[in-house]
Amino acid sequence: MLSVRRVLRADNGGEAHAAFTDRLGGFSAGRYDSFNLGSHVDDTPSAVSTNRAELSHALGLPASGLVFMDQVHGADVAVVTEPGGESPSVDAIVTTRRGIGLVVLVADCTPVLLADAAAGVIAAAHAGRPGMLAGVIPNVLGAMRAAGARSIDAIIGPSICPRHYEVPPEMREQAAAVEPVSASVSATGTPAIDVAAGVAEQLARDGVRIDWQNGCTYERADLYSYRRDGVTGRFGGVLWIP
Ligand SMILES: [Zn+2]
Repeated sequence: MLSVRRVLRADNGGEAHAAFTDRLGGFSAGRYDSFNLGSHVDDTPSAVSTNRAELSHALGLPASGLVFMDQVHGADVAVVTEPGGESPSVDAIVTTRRGIGLVVLVADCTPVLLADAAAGVIAAAHAGRPGMLAGVIPNVLGAMRAAGARSIDAIIGPSICPRHYEVPPEMREQAAAVEPVSASVSATGTPAIDVAAGVAEQLARDGVRIDWQNGCTYERADLYSYRRDGVTGRFGGVLWIP
């Protein structure tokens, strides 16, 4: 269920807790086997709800304490003040409230958890190729600073590596024009994009400290990969202020 757990502690006693899930130990069957958190991928709704409830419980959050996004591969950011309710149609969410678990769901895209534990400002961002190029990372950093963040830590979760993310030549050209570091080469020498490298570059440019988790979704059987499997589930990153 959980592949990574981290606690960010600030000198003033502030904390932010982070976790990344995997696909093991859940209630989904078939191509979604088994800890699928995505409600938009045609999995059985009751299985997804049970998996989400299990996640809240495992993290010590209230049953309705998780906030999901209706991710649209854009660059918009929403500030969240209450758990529950409609999932905002954005690719990054920010909160300063305790006990709200911000969730980003992925199956190859780059999940990013961001925190200024001292200021009590946290965010979760979904950066696929379009979002990274559209600026979801600078946008979410701007929203965090507007909410009082000053010194930001980022945890970049597992995502597809460039060896397994072949793209048409013109798509690599488009990426290179925005973030040159993201232009890469696949395992067979064809054009590829390193989305996570573009994300890391954008974070580093803004002075953010980076903890980059190892792991390519395409290569790890314990994670979901859209490029590998097509119809599949989603794993997630969760961040909260306890
Ligand atoms: Zn790979």
